[in-house]
Amino acid sequence: ESVIVAIDGPSGTGKSSTSKAVASALGLSYLDTGAQYRAITWWMITNGIDVSDPLAIASAAGKPVIESGTDPSAPAITVDGLDASGPIREQDVTSKVSAVSAVPEVRTRITELQRSIARAAEKGIVVEGRDIGTTVLPDADLKIFLTASPEARAARRSGEIKGADVTATREALIKRDAADSSRKTSPLAKADDAVEVDTTDLTLQQVIECVVTLVEE
Ligand code: C5P
Repeated sequence: ESVIVAIDGPSGTGKSSTSKAVASALGLSYLDTGAQYRAITWWMITNGIDVSDPLAIASAAGKPVIESGTDPSAPAITVDGLDASGPIREQDVTSKVSAVSAVPEVRTRITELQRSIARAAEKGIVVEGRDIGTTVLPDADLKIFLTASPEARAARRSGEIKGADVTATREALIKRDAADSSRKTSPLAKADDAVEVDTTDLTLQQVIECVVTLVEE
């Protein structure tokens, strides 16, 4: 029987590492929904769309063709057939993605894509994001909401970026989470029936074990 696991939370909580490892351990598919919002943002930037103009974003939202792979050991993402996995991690995309993903037309489009990918996963899927448990897959079998202190999140993110300044990373992270939490359409939020896991004092291995145990229960 197919199992759907929704993993939400702000950045720097270990969401991606946890989601991929849980999917691999259980033989499930994996979907990084943040990568899809980053991919549409990258397309907007490279196609000269003014990302400070929600109307311009809305009218372009249907144009890019976004395809996501679902193998947890090799997550792939393409836009109009081009490999987007590198460019979507660039600073420029990271600083603009919240504005693009706040536009309702973008969310509708990406949400439909996410639902069709989840439906197609035969054994089941682990889907990570911000609004998976609340909006995209409200009927998920298990919902996890990961949290961590701002210090822990900034330290983890800085560790991932070469030569990163922890203070600057912390500021940028707080700003992005505030924007994601305050937007009108499906903000970053914990579903009422989600299990909250505070990862501040846990190792990645402990978080993975905790989630795997919850799926198997
Ligand atoms: O997870 P990641 O940090 O790659 O997500 C990038 C951005 O994509 C988030 O800051 C948020 O603006 C947007 N996002 C979203 N809804 C999701 C996943 C990501 O709005 N389900």
